[in-house]
Amino acid sequence: MQRLAVYCGSATGSDPAFAETAREVGKAMVGHNIDLVYGGGRLGLMGIIADTVLENGGKVFGVIPEMLRGHEVAHTGLTELHIVDTMHERKAQMTELTDGFIALPGGIGTLDELFEAWTWNALGYHGKPFGLLNVNGYWDSLVTFLDSVADNGFMSVARREQLIVSDNIEEAISRLKAAYTGAEGKVTW
Ligand code: AMP
Repeated sequence: MQRLAVYCGSATGSDPAFAETAREVGKAMVGHNIDLVYGGGRLGLMGIIADTVLENGGKVFGVIPEMLRGHEVAHTGLTELHIVDTMHERKAQMTELTDGFIALPGGIGTLDELFEAWTWNALGYHGKPFGLLNVNGYWDSLVTFLDSVADNGFMSVARREQLIVSDNIEEAISRLKAAYTGAEGKVTW
């Protein structure tokens, strides 16, 4: 696994552990020689993880829609910043660029991205692994709800178990790597 898409808040959230974890994830990725794919912004946890990967010598690939770039939220110091027309193109391009996905704490943008990665996997558009980094129990209630989606018969247990959930960065990365299938993960639209 050479690249990981990190989905996370464009805010830093209320718990200082969120920003600290974004820094730790950035450092851990460089330590594993994994480059960052992300939404190309400079705000919140997004900016923190991008800066950390760059400061530690890693590569960062951002994908941002023209409209957000116009609002001056784009990070201008990335290895590559891809400008696209729409949010849909952004997620498609991030999916093509990455080998897997992880969501750190975030809001509706992060949820949208995580669920699209999962849905596209479920429909067979890609075979890339995806997970949640559960910082200080931030995702607990979502995980409980997702378990109930499977309990209620709207998702198989196997599908639910595809979502890697961990509160430990090294464990999350090693489980994503173990689930990464290389060429089988390639995107077919
Ligand atoms: P949220 O979790 O609602 O803060 O949204 C963050 C996610 O949505 C990121 O992973 C981005 O890809 C995208 N996003 C939302 N707001 C912004 C922004 N101001 N700049 C860049 N990307 C954003």
